[in-house]
Amino acid sequence: MLTVIKFGGSSLATAEKIYNAAAIAWDHKKQGKDVVMVVSARGKSTDELLLQASRIVREPDTRELDVLLSTGEQVSMSLVAMQLISMGVPAVSLCGWQAGILTEDKHNSSRIISIHTERILEELRSGRIVVVAGFQGVDSRGDITTIGRGGSDTSAVALAAALGADECLIYTDVDGVYSADPNMAEGALRHTTLGYDQMLEMASLGAGVLHNRSVELAKSKGVKLSVLSSLSSSGGTEIAPQPMEGSRVSGVICDKKTALLEMFSQGIGDLPDVLQLLAQSGIGADMIISHTGRTGLTVPQNRAKDALRLLLDNADRLGLSSVCADTNVAKLSLVGCGLCSDACVAARMLGALKEQGIHIRSMVAAEIKISVLIPYADAEQGVRGVHREFFGK
Ligand code: ASP
Ligand code: MG
Repeated sequence: MLTVIKFGGSSLATAEKIYNAAAIAWDHKKQGKDVVMVVSARGKSTDELLLQASRIVREPDTRELDVLLSTGEQVSMSLVAMQLISMGVPAVSLCGWQAGILTEDKHNSSRIISIHTERILEELRSGRIVVVAGFQGVDSRGDITTIGRGGSDTSAVALAAALGADECLIYTDVDGVYSADPNMAEGALRHTTLGYDQMLEMASLGAGVLHNRSVELAKSKGVKLSVLSSLSSSGGTEIAPQPMEGSRVSGVICDKKTALLEMFSQGIGDLPDVLQLLAQSGIGADMIISHTGRTGLTVPQNRAKDALRLLLDNADRLGLSSVCADTNVAKLSLVGCGLCSDACVAARMLGALKEQGIHIRSMVAAEIKISVLIPYADAEQGVRGVHREFFGK
């Protein structure tokens, strides 16, 4: 049996936690499994590396930034491997390029194209635990690449898929995926199992537990994926093909890092060109609502200024008479399945927000999620109210 286990930055932040992660890997090994361990950078070290770069230059060269950022994972993998070896457990650490992780020729948010598993398999055959640096790979020229913030979950799933692993276990400092952020909603429930589609929506909407691309990949490659606590052996959430258990609603997610762009035009304006222009700059638009003369859409908050500048610069060509951006909003979403087939779901969600006196700027509904845009200041109260409506106290 082959297991891929992944440890996030918070689960490796201290010497004690490194020991703990090594002990978990050793436990799996003692059960007779082959173990590949994927690690991310310790604590907030990726943020610190970014800060260091920003002190040198405002917009660092993307190739050199990848060289810098990849060092965070290299620190983790060596510390974990030396810990294992000191415990008498055969182990070896491998960087992305040593592990055969080939990516696109693109820096900072590259995608994994293929994994040449020979070296990993050779190390496993010789009885070692293989500790692989997450978040990084190598491009066709042999240059180091990184695959996007939070990407080591995706490294783990990609390795599990390439190796045909029996399971991919993501160890983190929470013990699973909850119906809402437990810090926001009292009585949030842990899912024991959750469908790939629901998990993908929750991850994409900012649930913060898993990198959304890892869920997408797990679904398409049929990787058995679980979220487990690195601190306790109980709990956990298994991401599985079945839709979900019990209720039709699986969670309430709030994304506070969003911004609303509003644009006005004489006719219907040129929405396809607007979207294309944003897409060309790598700005993803969501919650697109267009009526004659007015279009609203949301973009990630950290791209709002770029998006605004882009649309203003091209206003004439796009037939826009004015454009404005509002960052004082939050996107509150209900995730589940069959949400539109049951009209009561939307009514209950809106009713719960109304009861809290929360004003809704716009709303989009689909079978798998219903999102509303509300004032930023009402985000927590909104999550609590909607969560209470669907999950009780
Ligand atoms: N260290 C990287 C980051 O902070 C990758 C990861 O943690 O998954 O984004
Ligand atoms: Mg993470």
